[in-house]
Order: sequence, then structure tokens, then C-alpha cells
Amino acid sequence: MTSINKVTVAYGDGIGPEIMDATLRILDAAGAALEYDVIEIGEKVYKAGHESGISAESWEKIRTNKIFLKAPITTPQGGGFKSLNVTIRKSLGLFANVRPTRAYPPYVASHFPHMDLVVVRENEEDLYAGIEHQQTNEVVQTLKLISRPGSEKIIRYAFEYAKAYGRRKVTCMTKDNIMKHSDGLFHKVFNEVATEYPDIEADHWIIDIGSAVVAQRPESLDVVVTLNLYGDIISDIAAEVAGSVGLGGSSNVGMNHAMFEAIHGSAPSIAGQNIANPSGLLNGAVMMLVEIGKTDIAEKIQNAWLKTLEDGIHTRDIYRTQRSNELVGTKEFADAVIARLGERPAKLRAVKYNEDVHITVKLSEQPRKRKELVGVDVFIDWEGEDRNPETLGKTLETISNDKLYLKVISNRGVLVYPNGLPETFNSDHWRCRFSAREGITLDNKDILILLGTIQEMGFDFIKTEHLYDFDGERGYSLSQGE
Ligand code: NAD
Repeated sequence: MTSINKVTVAYGDGIGPEIMDATLRILDAAGAALEYDVIEIGEKVYKAGHESGISAESWEKIRTNKIFLKAPITTPQGGGFKSLNVTIRKSLGLFANVRPTRAYPPYVASHFPHMDLVVVRENEEDLYAGIEHQQTNEVVQTLKLISRPGSEKIIRYAFEYAKAYGRRKVTCMTKDNIMKHSDGLFHKVFNEVATEYPDIEADHWIIDIGSAVVAQRPESLDVVVTLNLYGDIISDIAAEVAGSVGLGGSSNVGMNHAMFEAIHGSAPSIAGQNIANPSGLLNGAVMMLVEIGKTDIAEKIQNAWLKTLEDGIHTRDIYRTQRSNELVGTKEFADAVIARLGERPAKLRAVKYNEDVHITVKLSEQPRKRKELVGVDVFIDWEGEDRNPETLGKTLETISNDKLYLKVISNRGVLVYPNGLPETFNSDHWRCRFSAREGITLDNKDILILLGTIQEMGFDFIKTEHLYDFDGERGYSLSQGE
């Protein structure tokens, strides 16, 4: 994406216009020489009837210009309004959300003065696919979808990022002790890719204790790569413990497009008062300059900004009488950065960007595995007599045929038939697992015949999941107790 000189800009809502104005003034004064193609997004556009918060013409500009600098927007509550951020990330394939968090001691208060952590969050998959269904009176499901290419893309990106920015370690965080197939795939791909980067240390934390490490020992971490939901949560924890929520910028990067923004929202309660800190958006803009190859300008701005922090010129959110020299507004903060362009910080570590830090990711070729249908889970909405699994099990056993037989029934993942425990709570959502008999090869017709019989017996089946082996390896989980 080098030699781009025109970028799409959105001033957003709340404090958006003030911080964007401050940011663009700094970019211009530093000689970024960018043309801004301004679009309107957010509250006004939602209220004008676009449920997505963006018009078709604005979409075209974002697609054509490829690079998008976006101020925060306000998503109206309720109604059918969709999150514009999620729409933009997914529609443009912005698979990597990169969120650096660094402490700036002693100028900005932080418990972890050496913290310098980058969260690389998968941005397109996981529970954020938003595929949800209510299936029975009592049970609702959200689908968690993880793909091999999606995992490989983000993991390779994290290692390439570490290489480009001279980082020493990449830590993967998953919950694969529980989600052995989805999180297990992510961890497996991480282990495979890590072997290609022998100079970069690689390790793995289970996400629960990993989050505690982010909160308690963030200085031990360097680059963290993780799935969408975990990344969303730990990047906010990281920003908070660095003591600088208002300072963080972030990038959303894809193969052909990228969007840059502040981590924070539109802060409506302080809008229009010239008190917001423009640093988050400015740091997002610096990431943008690096991405489009204007690394000298990025460096000039970042170092002037560090010098401004160091000189104690602070906006209200970071102003502390013991640490700061001058309380300034949004505009005056931008003026102070502009006045320091060309200067470097004396105490804080100055930045130096490689000239070409653009990161590309190439996926490996994966042979297609042989897929064999070995059974089916039929989910049934059933209350029966006192929700007794014995009754359901004995009835369904009678429809076992020469190809398929009832193996087990589980309720929310816990085995309840045969040999369930009377203590287990049963909802109205039953997973009835039918397996192929020894030596039988199944096809979809066998499943349809089975479903026909279940239907004739008056059961309300609400969903099916096919059970496959891939190259002879089980591609589905067992129930607890199976
Ligand atoms: P917020 O980040 O806007 O504000 C949280 C707190 O931080 C507030 O006290 C606010 O005053 C303060 N704050 C935030 N940015 C600041 C800055 N630059 N300088 C000084 N103080 C700052 O979060 P919120 O209040 O939960 O959300 C407000 C709106 O922003 C909501 O409509 C939400 O949907 C939206 N939002 C948008 C984005 C985005 O566009 N990327 C991200 C998060 C939230």
C-alpha cells in the first residue's frame, strides 16, 4: 500500500470532529502531503435512515481510496442499527486488529512503567459472526466459527509484525482445554507457524490465566495473538492498566484495505468543549503513515508527540499536578506537538521505523482431507414426561435401523442417556447422537431417512449436525461423560 496520497477521512460524532481537526493539522504541518476525501458516517447518517450508518457513495470512496482514517462514532441505542465498525471490518476483510499499548512513565501514571504490549486480534471470525438462533423455549445458541485460513492469516500477521518491529516474543491465548476443536485449531496453527520463525520466542497461555497476566504482569508480554472475543477483552484490559485509554490508536488491516482509529469512543459528554485528548486518533494516524510508507513523517510526529508528553503539556485526562507542567485543550495540545516537530524526546524512548514495514501474509497450501460421514447429532425440542431422559432414550432406540443407532443423548453437552445421573438438570434441548454401525458408509440420504422416522414419531427436531471424520480423525467433540 505504499505511495498512497489520498485517504478517506470521517470526522465522526461527539469529540470526533475536534480530535480529527487536531490530528489533520499535525499531519499537514509535518508534511504528510495527504489529500483527504471526507465522508459522513455515524449518528446523522443512521438517523437519516441508513441502518448501517453509511451511504453507498461513502462506501465507494472507502473502497476506492483503500486507506481510511476514522474518528469515533456514536452508535444509536436500540432500533435495527448495525455496528458500523463491525460492518467495515468484515466487508473489507480487515482481518487484523492491531492495538499497541505502551506506558509513558513518569509522565503518564502507570503501575507498569515498562509495559509495551501489542495485541493482535483476529477481526473477522469467532462469535462475532453474529449467527444466533433461539431453538427452544429455553435455549439460544451463538455459533463460534473458526477457520484454518482465518487463523493462519492472523497468526502469520502477528509473527510478521514481530519481525518487522523487532519484537522478541509472540504469545498465543486460547481456551483449547475446553474448546478443543475451534480454539484447538488456532493453537495448532500457531504451533505450526511458530516453527517458521526460530528467532522469535513463541508461547501459549490459556486465556483466563492469560488475561490475569495482562492485568498483573503485562511487562512479561510482547506481542499477543488471539481470537476475536478474547482480543477485544484483553486489549481493553491492556489499555486500562497502561493508564492511557485516551492515548491508544489502533489499526484494522486487510490484504487491500486498512482503517485506522483511536481505541476510545465518541465521548459525547465532553464533546465541543476543547478538552478531549487527540492522542488516540493521532497514534492511529501514525500507524496509517507507517502502513502507507511515510515512515519518516510518522517518526517525526511520534517523536514530537513524545516530547510534548515529556514536557508536561497535558490534556485534562492525563493532567496531574505532580507530573504535568501545563493543562491544555485539544487545539493547544495539537499546537504544542506542531511546535515540536523535528524534536525528539530526551527520556522517553524515541521511535524509529524501518523504511518498509509493510506486512504481507501468504497462506500455506493445505491438502484437502478425506471427509467421511460417521453419524449425526439430531437436536430435539422435548419436554415429555418430567423430562426423563430414560423415556426419550428408550423411544429413540426403537428407531435405530441397519445403518444408524442411537449412541448417546446429552443435554447442554452433559451425557444423560444411557447411564445419566439423576442430579443433572435437563433443559428442553436434547442432543441425540446417532452413529453409523460398524463397517457402514453413510450418505446424506441415510440422514434424511432417519429424520423422516423421527418426524413420524412426533418429535420436534430443531437442528442437525453431521459427524465427520477427516482422514480418519474425529472431527467432533464427545459429550462430557461419553
Ligand atoms: P468512550 O471511549 O467514548 O468514553 C469512555 C470515557 O473515556 C469517558 O469518560 C470519556 O469522557 C473518556 N474519553 C474517551 N476518549 C477521550 C479522549 N480522547 N480524551 C479524554 N477523555 C476521553 O466510551 P463510551 O462512553 O462507552 O462510548 C461513547 C460512544 O462511543 C458510544 O456511542 C459508543 O458506541 C461509541 N464508541 C465508538 C467507538 C468507535 O467508533 N470506534 C468505539 C467505542 C465506543
